[in-house]
Amino acid sequence: MPAKLFNPNSEEPFVLSRSRIDNFIECPRCFYLTNRVGIARPPSFPFNLNNAVDELLKNEFDVYREKGEPHPIMVENNLNALPYKHPDLEEWRESLRHGVKRYHPETNLILRGGLDDLWIDTDTNQLIVVDYKATSKKGEVSIDADWQIGYKRQIEFYQWLLRGNSFDVSDIGYFVYCNGIAEKDEFNNILEFTTKLIPYKGNDSWVEPTIRNLKECLIRHEVPDANPKCSYCSYVKKTLMV
Ligand code: SF4
Repeated sequence: MPAKLFNPNSEEPFVLSRSRIDNFIECPRCFYLTNRVGIARPPSFPFNLNNAVDELLKNEFDVYREKGEPHPIMVENNLNALPYKHPDLEEWRESLRHGVKRYHPETNLILRGGLDDLWIDTDTNQLIVVDYKATSKKGEVSIDADWQIGYKRQIEFYQWLLRGNSFDVSDIGYFVYCNGIAEKDEFNNILEFTTKLIPYKGNDSWVEPTIRNLKECLIRHEVPDANPKCSYCSYVKKTLMV
């Protein structure tokens, strides 16, 4: 079923997922075409291997959640925390239809996003937003590359969503970052990983102004300009010149 389009004359709240917010930050034109006109960029390939790692990590952390015990990675990193138990956790993790939702009265928008995991700091009782990542690269994984700004926004957006649902949320979130080891002599149907816990201090102050700006974008009648740095649009322009 195609996603619902924004109708400026409707009083019904319009729902936007985290990926749509990211889409607006990258290019208001693309965001507008998707949500007002109904022309979305072609979907990217599914990251099936990454999704498999996510699924397995979820299962693994759920075992410790059920037992009420810290996962070994928390112990190794001297983190006084437990996987958080909540009856809505499965819904909050369901990124395609549900996720954590927050109504924003000023713009009449409902913002939502699907979490990977939530932990609770047992010293402060604050919730900790956790995101799982998987890759395969030489050397240590980090979150320092420019393109990883989206990872950081992800944590900050979930922090903002949860705060809007009256939860006390720590500024510190964590990436559980798994790195597949490719330097092996044989495959033998086994892909091994090293896993690193990377803390990140989030700042969600960008969320509110971004939501106000994207609402202004949605209600306008002209299509915004394209992002000049976008490789998709320059590809299309070049093909039209042939
Ligand atoms: S520049 Fe064009 S293709 Fe690229 S994101 Fe914007 S509208 Fe989409």
